[in-house]
Amino acid sequence: MAVVTAPILRNRIGGAWQEPDGAPLLDVPDPATGALISRVPLSDSAAVDAAVQAAAAAQPAWAATPVAERVRVCYRLRELMEAQAAELRDLIVRENGKTRADAQGEVRRALEVVELSCGMPTLMMGRVLADVSRGIDCEEIRYPVGVCGIITPFNFPLMVPMWTLPIAIAAGNAVVLKPSERTPNSAVRIVELFEAAGLAPGILNLVHGAREVVTAICEHPGIRAVSFVGSQPVATYVYRTASASGKRVQALAGAKNHLVVMPDADLAVAVPAIMSSAFGGAGQRCLAGSVVVAVGEAADRVIPALAEACSGLRVGPGADPETGMGPVIRDDSRSRVAGYIEAGLLEGATLVCDGRQSATAAFGSGGFFLGPTIFDHVAPSMSIAQEEIFGPVLSVIRTASLDEALAVVNRSRFGNAASIFTTSGGAARRWREGVQAGMLGVNIGVAAPVAMFPFAGWKDSFYGDLHATGLDGVQFFTRRKVVTSRF
Ligand code: NAD
Repeated sequence: MAVVTAPILRNRIGGAWQEPDGAPLLDVPDPATGALISRVPLSDSAAVDAAVQAAAAAQPAWAATPVAERVRVCYRLRELMEAQAAELRDLIVRENGKTRADAQGEVRRALEVVELSCGMPTLMMGRVLADVSRGIDCEEIRYPVGVCGIITPFNFPLMVPMWTLPIAIAAGNAVVLKPSERTPNSAVRIVELFEAAGLAPGILNLVHGAREVVTAICEHPGIRAVSFVGSQPVATYVYRTASASGKRVQALAGAKNHLVVMPDADLAVAVPAIMSSAFGGAGQRCLAGSVVVAVGEAADRVIPALAEACSGLRVGPGADPETGMGPVIRDDSRSRVAGYIEAGLLEGATLVCDGRQSATAAFGSGGFFLGPTIFDHVAPSMSIAQEEIFGPVLSVIRTASLDEALAVVNRSRFGNAASIFTTSGGAARRWREGVQAGMLGVNIGVAAPVAMFPFAGWKDSFYGDLHATGLDGVQFFTRRKVVTSRF
């Protein structure tokens, strides 16, 4: 019998790797093959406490380091990431399963935030007003918050931690990072890269684990701010638990994103954009298009075009350059998504493409494959129209007008992203003003804001005040003193 050896991952606390010390270990398989990549420890609250203590000990000296010196870590990190971009891409492909093109995009998006953070000397400048009263001046100065907890999901194992880490660190904070236990290997690489870029021990600590670690981060009195990205139920839990412990919280949550197609849409633009939005990352993106709302005669043109594109979409291992869509993250995710396909059929929707069949035919291997699925004649009340499926399933709802389409979109409890495909400026403007979501696309399938702007979900897609990235990110990871002086 072959002996399976896979590295056991370790926590990084105060600049030292910690052996798991009896913590239960969870297997981390390659989603394309099921083969073991590593084992991750499910740490306990004592590990979080040790990490917070290390962070709290290191943070004052880091905060006292001039910001122009702190950002040199970001400059060096940027160079290291550029030099290792192909390795980072391949690591993402291996542990997450997405295609090489998707993973390459993820690396670029992570780099954008590092580049933004290089501007921290300007970004965290305060403000002064002389003579607010005769002989009295007022100044507002930004300081780091202290020790911050960062909790991240599986679907962007490099990019999502990098939405916040460079900003938090350049602003002078110390961090306890808890990555997804389903994709923990990229986080190890992130820590190695920051340290290779010259970051002092204790500023970036890594604690692997699951719920117990998350709860400990939310409740630990030494942590002042918690940034979370993940599913809606866990986001609610984190928001409530951490804010009840007196912390500032940003909790980026789940989504159900709508793509409205107007009768005047240019299908040469719309169809590839919808395909990439719905099936990129195997539909496991918080910005994934999940529902097409086809207005008037658009449905009869767009559905056959999407069905044809689906039949040409090659499902396979992300590492194969010919692959158009990789596997989902785990076998239970595949079963959960297949359950939604069953539910759609039971609720009366029309199956146009059945991803269960295409994937089983292509791969009998140990990978977690599911082909692209499209449903037509979906009613807004159906579960496939309302719930976040987080897999390669696209539902089409037919409406008679843009106003009816807006009503369908706005009835969703989520408000992460929404797009319209049209050649009419008037329709685009009516859309922008009427839709209740925070990230909007006009003839764009994935309306992901670049790093200079906030990742701005609404409704049940976000809990908190300040979003991730952009100036919101800088404000989240800094706090102010307002000084009124007379001399
Ligand atoms: P998840 O909620 O299962 O996990 C996210 C984090 O929470 C992980 O670190 C995990 O260990 C932890 N966690 C999981 N269950 C927990 C529990 N019961 N108690 C405490 N902590 C728990 O999310 P996921 O499946 O890794 O990621 C996919 C989800 O993330 C989707 O819902 C997606 O929409 C969302 N997401 C949102 C955004 C956004 O910007 N709004 C971005 C990426 C992903």
